[in-house]
Amino acid sequence: MNQDQTIARWRRLLRQLQETHDHELSCTECFDQLGDYVDLELAAQPAAECLPMLRLHLVQCGACRDEYQVLRELVEMTAVGNLPPEDDLLNRAGHRRRTRHGSGGSA
Ligand SMILES: [Zn+2]
Repeated sequence: MNQDQTIARWRRLLRQLQETHDHELSCTECFDQLGDYVDLELAAQPAAECLPMLRLHLVQCGACRDEYQVLRELVEMTAVGNLPPEDDLLNRAGHRRRTRHGSGGSA
């Protein structure tokens, strides 16, 4: 094989790699779009098709995958009303001062 051709092929490969890299999300960018991604999923939209780079990042990055799972659980809980309203939390905080003996929580 001609050496020039080999070099040209490598150059092309390297350029492709660089281009791919340019479009990769950082963790910060990923986190910025995570809310949109979860919204799309919960709206039964093809989130992975709308935000393919985010999807790719989630596959590759365990830290962001954790963030995604936590966010998704939170949004789902809010959606079905399992999350206590803010008023309730405030009431309980005030209530705890008087009834200190209760272990509290239902875990
Ligand atoms: Zn990440």
